[in-house]
Amino acid sequence: MKFDSINPYNGEVVGSHKETTKVELTKILDTAEKTFEEWRKVPLGERTRLIAKAGQVLRDNVERYAKVMALEMGKPIVEARAEVKKCALVCDYYAENAADFLADEIIKTDASQSFVRHNPIGCVFAVMPWNYPFWQVFRFAAPTLTAGNTGILKHAQNVFGCAAMIEEVFDKAGYPKGVFQNAFVGHDKTEMIISHNAVKAITLTGSERAGSAVAQLAGKYLKKSLLELGGSNAFLVLADADMDKTVATAVNARMMNAGQSCIAAKRFIIEEKVYDEFVDKFVKAVIELKSGDPMEENTQIGTLARIDLAEGVQKQVKESVKKGAKLLLGGKQKDAYHEPTVLGNVKPGMPAFDEETFGPVAAMIKAKNIDEAFELSQMSNYALGISVCTKNVKKALEYVDRVDDGAYFVNELVKSDPRLPFGGQKNSGFGRELSRDGMMEFINRKTVYVK
Ligand code: NDP
Repeated sequence: MKFDSINPYNGEVVGSHKETTKVELTKILDTAEKTFEEWRKVPLGERTRLIAKAGQVLRDNVERYAKVMALEMGKPIVEARAEVKKCALVCDYYAENAADFLADEIIKTDASQSFVRHNPIGCVFAVMPWNYPFWQVFRFAAPTLTAGNTGILKHAQNVFGCAAMIEEVFDKAGYPKGVFQNAFVGHDKTEMIISHNAVKAITLTGSERAGSAVAQLAGKYLKKSLLELGGSNAFLVLADADMDKTVATAVNARMMNAGQSCIAAKRFIIEEKVYDEFVDKFVKAVIELKSGDPMEENTQIGTLARIDLAEGVQKQVKESVKKGAKLLLGGKQKDAYHEPTVLGNVKPGMPAFDEETFGPVAAMIKAKNIDEAFELSQMSNYALGISVCTKNVKKALEYVDRVDDGAYFVNELVKSDPRLPFGGQKNSGFGRELSRDGMMEFINRKTVYVK
């Protein structure tokens, strides 16, 4: 069997990847196990040199890698280039900081010496999605491999070309074979991988459905799992917000990557005094966005990654309108393209409020006051991040403890930064990626005690 990559913009087949057979998969798993025993002994200085080199390989090949991304999942080429460069940054970050993060942590007790040693745990199995097909992988791989673990990637089936390019990055950087390997497989092989002795933990970014299935298997085989799932981030516009700046940030927060981001702002909750002004300016700004061929330099909105995903978003829009939302802009879908869409009068009970809308659909929600705005923000099964726009930063900071989200951004869109922990609560998942926390997820924090 083979997996075809289909360009969602025109339906053309842009790549084909042979499925990894069971025999090949066993070899991959055995190699991961054997390589781990060697890799863990490689001095940290060499591991950090290699991750820095991986960053360099990414920078040297921005154009090639960006093109595969744009062709396989419809991301505008300009955004694809930025994604490759961001991956290089996360490599730099761990190259520079791994020694600090992994140093022994001395803890004073009644012992003559007591400290925590940070050892790698083995092979980490990564199940990754198509929306940021390079970034999601490097976000896991840079800290995890640098810590001395090996990795096996099961990428989303529609971006296997990206997966092949990512393996190329590690090869070109000079990593020993077996530190990072692809498995071109579908769901039916997940259990075989998770149950193998080589695999000590699983990291997944994707839907709740996928997260739940994989976490169940992780539980069955007593392996650790880290889940980074969906989000329905609230973007609060308080009455005193700087309106022009807020609108610019809001449009970016929703429409980047055609809205296919877990941390995208999806529910705009606006104080009623400024609701009309904000919505009017938001609609005008969205009209200006240029949709088109992802390969063209001036395209800002490409297609969604697959036709079924665009159809799913369309269903959510139609259902929300049926339940009383007002279609203020867009609303149509053709093949994998979904028009940038703005819905007014959105309320709990509508898909645009209750569900994750993974496309260019902005839900406008009116709140009487700040307290109601925060209450509405928390009426969600997700808790990944929240943005609060106001000139009164002191006031905004008073609400930090009142929300369940994993991130709280003031006057900025929720974004990931290698230096800051990233992850959610509730159905958005558990565990943290990036920063020191991300590196510690797949580490044996070994207590050493000398009497
Ligand atoms: P999925 O969650 O199905 O895909 C993400 C990854 O999980 C892929 O590698 C997929 O593999 C894998 N996967 C799916 N089901 C299983 C399973 N039972 N066992 C093991 N691996 C599995 O996302 P979809 O592509 O179906 O997108 C649906 C929705 O998910 C989106 O509309 C969005 O709401 C959400 N999503 C969230 C993301 C995020 O960043 N948090 C990213 C992507 C999607 P395969 O390709 O083989 O199916």
